[in-house]
Amino acid sequence: MVKLATNKPQANNKAQSDNARSTETQFGENHFNELRFKLSTNLQSSLDLDATLKTFFRHVQSVIGCSGMLFSSRQSESEVVIGTKGRHRVSYNVSSGADKLGELCFLRSNKFAEAELAVLETLIGVLFYPLRNALKYKEALESSLKDALTGVGNRFSLEFNFSREIKLAKRHKKALAVLLIDVDHFKKINDSYGHKRGDVVLKKIAGLISDSLRETDQVFRYGGEEFVAVLNETDMENAMLTAERIRANIAEHEIVASDARIGATVSIGIASLSMDDSFDELFERADKAMYQAKKAGRNQIVCSGLDKKTEIKKIA
Ligand code: GH3
Ligand code: MG
Ligand code: MG
Repeated sequence: MVKLATNKPQANNKAQSDNARSTETQFGENHFNELRFKLSTNLQSSLDLDATLKTFFRHVQSVIGCSGMLFSSRQSESEVVIGTKGRHRVSYNVSSGADKLGELCFLRSNKFAEAELAVLETLIGVLFYPLRNALKYKEALESSLKDALTGVGNRFSLEFNFSREIKLAKRHKKALAVLLIDVDHFKKINDSYGHKRGDVVLKKIAGLISDSLRETDQVFRYGGEEFVAVLNETDMENAMLTAERIRANIAEHEIVASDARIGATVSIGIASLSMDDSFDELFERADKAMYQAKKAGRNQIVCSGLDKKTEIKKIA
């Protein structure tokens, strides 16, 4: 049973059924049942959250003159805004038992009549399961792009996003830099502290990398103890500053894993996009630069110049 908690005084059962009856009278019982059936059928056509809510709003608008609708769910970090604002609003917490989907809010310039609220409540009842499916689908899509251990993007997501960023940078003639970040002597960390604590170290390092980036930058776990950061609208000089921030943050941070305090360092290779670069070429240059950093003693940054010569930046 779908429970709707509203910000208006909750109507009791008798009042609700009276309202529903007056609604059916107002809109015509057959017409209203037809609308519910149509809504239920049309909501089955998509699993996309935006599309589901737009379909719902279209049907609501066909019986109630709403100017806008807002759906927000803290749990699934979703917010969908449709239409325009209005002075009056009515909100519903859409839930069934422990299944709390989020808050649905309807807006318009004049007050909602009781009979209209009864219509809304009936239609929200029809929306409940399609909305729950859309939220579950969104969650599944998002987790398929995330690395389960560290929570940053996974390799599949890297390949998809990196190719798109390269295309965009070329189209808008913007700089793009990539950092390949490899944890130094990670095998030793596993051997000395155990695989579980090694996992904690990887998680913490992913967090330290993310914290060192701008919101528009993206970080991915490429494999075991290797991460890739994609820095859009960033030239080599600024990429070096970001890489140094990451390197220093990690080197200076003592990672606490159970009873152990673990120090870790990373080696970073940087490459910046030239207009004739493919994904593979750009990535390979960052990879070569990273190996140069390893050879040069680790815990340092190496930039691969656009002229494809490698220049080493030593960190004391
Ligand atoms: P280098 O400085 O040359 O990079 O040395 P390294 O020891 O970091 O590199 P190597 O490639 O020899 O070892 C990487 C290790 O990372 C080996 C592997 O067992 C470990 N590893 C890969 N994935 C995971 C993981 O998810 N969790 C943990 N704990 N260890 C992992
Ligand atoms: Mg390593
Ligand atoms: Mg490695």
